[in-house]
Amino acid sequence: MPRPIEALVHTGALAHNLARARRAAPDARLWAVVKADAYGHGIERAYAGLRRADGFALLDLAEAERVRALGWRGPVLLLEGVFEPRDLEVVSRLDLWHTVHCTEQIDWLAAHRTADPHHVFLKMNSGMNRLGFRPESYRAAWARLNALPQVGEVGLMTHFADADGPRGIEPQVRAFAAVTRDLPGERSVANSAAILRHHGADGLPGSLRGHGAGDWVRAGIMTYGSAPDFPEHDAAHWGLEPAMTLRTRLIATQQLEPGDTVGYGSAFAAERAMRIGIAACGYADGYPRHAGTGTPVLVDGMRTTTVGRVSMDMLAVDLSGLPGAGIGSEVTLWGRGPGGSGGAVLPIDAVARAAGTIGYELMCALARRVPVRAVD
Ligand SMILES: *Cc1c(COP(=O)(O)O)cnc(C)c1O
Repeated sequence: MPRPIEALVHTGALAHNLARARRAAPDARLWAVVKADAYGHGIERAYAGLRRADGFALLDLAEAERVRALGWRGPVLLLEGVFEPRDLEVVSRLDLWHTVHCTEQIDWLAAHRTADPHHVFLKMNSGMNRLGFRPESYRAAWARLNALPQVGEVGLMTHFADADGPRGIEPQVRAFAAVTRDLPGERSVANSAAILRHHGADGLPGSLRGHGAGDWVRAGIMTYGSAPDFPEHDAAHWGLEPAMTLRTRLIATQQLEPGDTVGYGSAFAAERAMRIGIAACGYADGYPRHAGTGTPVLVDGMRTTTVGRVSMDMLAVDLSGLPGAGIGSEVTLWGRGPGGSGGAVLPIDAVARAAGTIGYELMCALARRVPVRAVD
């Protein structure tokens, strides 16, 4: 028998969450963001649940090639654009849309030979200071790009730094709107947090409405069933279902006496007699080593906590109050417990929080040695 750990990708949940994004922005077109191999779910596995998107947004030419290999003929957008001039050959061949965020990318396009004009999104740095033209140089970049014979449609794009938090998006929306107000073209501004927290019926923050062009929202993390603004809101609050389950089984139990310790560094000491279980999952499977004693976990669908340090291949769970649990009991590290859609759910966000990180990182860090299966 193989080691009992496995990950499940719930394609029905992906479809449900995508539909949730569409309900939040019904008049916008919807990018399913599938960078980082669909946030660790696997592009090919996730595709079955995401094919009702209007397009796929990602970073990597090899990933774009995989989306085309699945038979997708619709829009595919490179969110960071091209990395060197040669990439434009692949863009032309695969008919990709690409982000233009710096002068060099415009220079490369001006020197590129293509029969079909490219569909591009010009990115504004409206305050996040990663990619894009600052507001004061945006219109000059737009004019130059728009005049190139290599370019067809020019969409307008920016990205929010604080859509999930108290700072909000208003300063960035104002900067973006002030410079783009009279420019033609599609807008694309919203990530998951902006879709859920800041959107009107047409998919755009109010101050950007009324320009007449079609718009695109970019749904990433919400598609995978994690709340972008946890713990202020959880996935259930937003009507999202977990798209990934990581589960394993107990491979041993131990009866502890008061004062007995558990695992490396003896980081946990029993205050009373108690029973623990040893689950076949460790940090080499992608479970976060920083998740200390008290991290939530399900055993046979019942909520309990981890005890002691996570080791490479194992972690320990508290079996107090679970007299029926033993070797072979199902352990849910995150996602859906046993019992299907009516059963218990352990949000990946709760595990991430206990480890001082976010759901995004845990799903992307699922280790290669864990077998993954798509289920509906
Ligand atoms: C990753 C990414 C997104 C998706 O963000 P989520 O928070 O996962 O919804 C949207 N836009 C850009 C530019 C991104 O890089």
